[in-house]
Amino acid sequence: DESDGETEEYLFKVVIIGDSAVGKSNLLSRYARNEFNPHSKATIGVEFQTQSMDIDGKDVKAQIWDTAGQERFRAVTSAYYRGAFGALLVYDISRRSTFDNVGRWLKELNTHSDTTIAKMLVGNKCDLDNIREVPVEEGKALAEAEGMFFMETSALDSTNVKTAFEIIIKEIYSNVS
Ligand code: GDP
Ligand code: MG
Repeated sequence: DESDGETEEYLFKVVIIGDSAVGKSNLLSRYARNEFNPHSKATIGVEFQTQSMDIDGKDVKAQIWDTAGQERFRAVTSAYYRGAFGALLVYDISRRSTFDNVGRWLKELNTHSDTTIAKMLVGNKCDLDNIREVPVEEGKALAEAEGMFFMETSALDSTNVKTAFEIIIKEIYSNVS
């Protein structure tokens, strides 16, 4: 408690899932390091990044996991989901098929998570509005039907990236505190 001068700490695991090339790795690099990579490369190396935020004077850390490209082979393992308290389920607003696959990802997430998971449906690449294939309203409606938060983001121009992660981290915190 605060009387002995110690700060309470929280650490939550958050996973990012969704089809290949929807922008999962770039959402994480934009949030954690304010970086964007225009060249599509399979994620190599680091499997998660840790970010801290202050909520009600508490130090809340999110350990955010990114796939290493296994999603291409539909081979995301249960270890990836294990212990997750939150998930960002990402599709690409300019590629309809990635939205059509959201149901599959949701099913996989629900199969692998034992606790109540805070979920956000993320329509990424909203900077590509001119070639949009998924209307905002459709994303919203699906999220509402499935009990998820919803946000359109752009890892390219930073729109809503910080907000999306912060909403999910605050929701997890409020679920456990
Ligand atoms: P992942 O396979 O889901 O991790 O996707 P990546 O983060 O590797 O991104 C796949 C491709 O989409 C890369 O060429 C990125 O530069 C591009 N990309 C990612 N996010 C955005 C975005 O918000 N807008 C645009 N226009 N391109 C993006
Ligand atoms: Mg990736």
